[in-house]
Amino acid sequence: MAATASIRVTSPATGEELGEVAISTPAEIDAAVRAARDAQPLLEELTMHERAALLHRAADIVEERLDELARELALEQGKPLRTEAVEEIEETAGNLRMAAEDVKRMDTAVIPAERRGKMVFTFRKPNGVFAMITPWNFPMMIPSELIAPALATGNSVILKPSELTPLSGRRLVEILEEAGLPEGAIGIVQGGREAGEALVTHAGVDAIGFVGSHGTGEAIVRAAGMKRTLIEASGNGPQIVLADADLAAAAAAAVEGAAYLAGQVCVATERVLVEERAHGEFVELVLARAGEVVLGHPLEEATTMGPLNNEPVAAKMDRHLADAGAHGARVLAGGRRADGFPTDLYYEMTVVDGVTPATLLFREESFGPVLPITTFRSDDEAIALANDSHLGLQAAVFTSSLRRAFRFVNEIRAGNIQVNETTGYWEGRPPFGGAAGTKTGWGRIQLEDFTDLRTATIDYLNTPEE
Ligand code: NAD
Repeated sequence: MAATASIRVTSPATGEELGEVAISTPAEIDAAVRAARDAQPLLEELTMHERAALLHRAADIVEERLDELARELALEQGKPLRTEAVEEIEETAGNLRMAAEDVKRMDTAVIPAERRGKMVFTFRKPNGVFAMITPWNFPMMIPSELIAPALATGNSVILKPSELTPLSGRRLVEILEEAGLPEGAIGIVQGGREAGEALVTHAGVDAIGFVGSHGTGEAIVRAAGMKRTLIEASGNGPQIVLADADLAAAAAAAVEGAAYLAGQVCVATERVLVEERAHGEFVELVLARAGEVVLGHPLEEATTMGPLNNEPVAAKMDRHLADAGAHGARVLAGGRRADGFPTDLYYEMTVVDGVTPATLLFREESFGPVLPITTFRSDDEAIALANDSHLGLQAAVFTSSLRRAFRFVNEIRAGNIQVNETTGYWEGRPPFGGAAGTKTGWGRIQLEDFTDLRTATIDYLNTPEE
């Protein structure tokens, strides 16, 4: 018999092997889909309060094991334990609880009928079997933000976590099973592109929730055909700094937005557009802030920024910085992998000035700890630069003028815009997703998008008397 293929998981922080997971075979994937199909009606039969109670129970387990889960996450993903890993586990529990509570308030409309004797109302059904395909940057939180609303609304779910962080995804599924979901209601498939494709194209899968890069998102949409898809893809978020802004706050927000998770966040600050007359002062403030970032081992107390998760991301940083140099941009801080760490994935906090729209730093999502700075002279030019992107997930504007703030809110093409706050500011409740007309995807992470809206018309005059 052929040996089962497997994924060996190594820590980006230390290079040590953390574990191994078997790649799901086509037969195992098929079995997971069948189990999910069988379980779905059982899940739908539960009352919404019963499903909510299961999600609260799962959240209790996540909270009880916070220390252990955060430590495992920090080692597998590379994020600092004390801050980001703990936050991610807390947000995971929060997502489970939020879906459990929100589902109880999900009303639908009764529509005034055109004809006498008719009552028209809408109601929501689950989509059926949902496949969730997720990335490696938030390997517990992102699966939870998809799985929780899907289960709350009565879908069964199969998670395919990233092949780079399969252990965290497995932990979450184990916890949901332990919380007492009907057998098969939550399943897991391990592997990379092939496993994802097998789920997307499986006739027993009704809908796909995807979070990842825009190229993969497009491939999934093509393969999924008419299946429901919820696509949350890449960002290239600008932070715009107008000269009338609190420049110290703007500099702090920009560095926070680029350094959080070493920039490997869809809502990271990927570009900074600063009004020319504020440029000199702003750059000084940014450099002072960037100097406070402590790159280090994720388990060390003092660390504020850990290593990158994987070599392709680090190589992309190398490529984007070399390209910026070739286009005449100047590296003011960092700009290289750091020496003296157990792996080659520790990247220095980097600030680059004089970045033009011709560069990869400007045009593409860099997904690393880099702040590329570009100047502009007028609000019109700032808006044109901000919108000069095929991605439109998040943006931020810093100004003390309400009038100017509202213009940017209205005219920047992004699903989420912050005023006087970092692009990375995050709340679980608002509908999250990309702007239409960009490659960031479609749909919103909100309960409604996990359901199928149906309409019923009742003719109560023609109902025979009993
Ligand atoms: P990725 O697209 O490489 O992989 C994401 C997932 O898709 C993985 O599980 C992978 O195995 C799977 N996959 C790859 N090819 C597939 C295919 N052809 N069919 C089905 N599944 C396939 O993304 P990544 O590198 O893991 O994640 C980083 C990206 O995710 C960044 O672009 C980031 O901006 C984006 N992201 C977006 C959000 C958001 O909410 N919009 C949040 C986090 C990350």
